[in-house]
Amino acid sequence: MVMIVPILKYGSPELRAVSKAVDSFDGELEKIIKNMFDTMYGSPGIGLAAAQIGINIRLSTIDLSVGEDAAKRIVLCNPEIVSAEGEQRADEGCLSIPDFSDSVVRPLKMVVRCQDAHGEEHTIEAEGLLARCLSHEIDHLNGVLFIDHLSPLKRTLIRNKIRKLAKAGEW
Ligand SMILES: [Zn+2]
Repeated sequence: MVMIVPILKYGSPELRAVSKAVDSFDGELEKIIKNMFDTMYGSPGIGLAAAQIGINIRLSTIDLSVGEDAAKRIVLCNPEIVSAEGEQRADEGCLSIPDFSDSVVRPLKMVVRCQDAHGEEHTIEAEGLLARCLSHEIDHLNGVLFIDHLSPLKRTLIRNKIRKLAKAGEW
């Protein structure tokens, strides 16, 4: 059964909290992960952090194929950045800040160590879009959003637009 849960939007305090380490790799965690993939595919999106559905644990799901290729599914538990190098600039968005996007600089290549749904350790060597996605998702676990990487002026513009939408009951 597909379980799509609401995604918190910008302004929710959970998005600004530093998430806690995942410490039990049990059935409950598996349920959360399944809900996250379902919700991410339903949006659709290529990455989702547990904080975005109101659960502040260091967990993100990633799938660049958006459900087309099961081998592309990544469960990112307790990720640690081993190395980050180079730079790439591209337009980026976030399921918690719908309808906004802007150009963000991210590392071109990243090596990340993480655990999967069962607590097994993995090392992911990524570049291009996957490196961007890993960087964006690890940011979420620390309460950081893509707009934090923009210039203060751009950030203020987006914040003001969101405030207007919220006032109109459209956020
Ligand atoms: Zn995001």
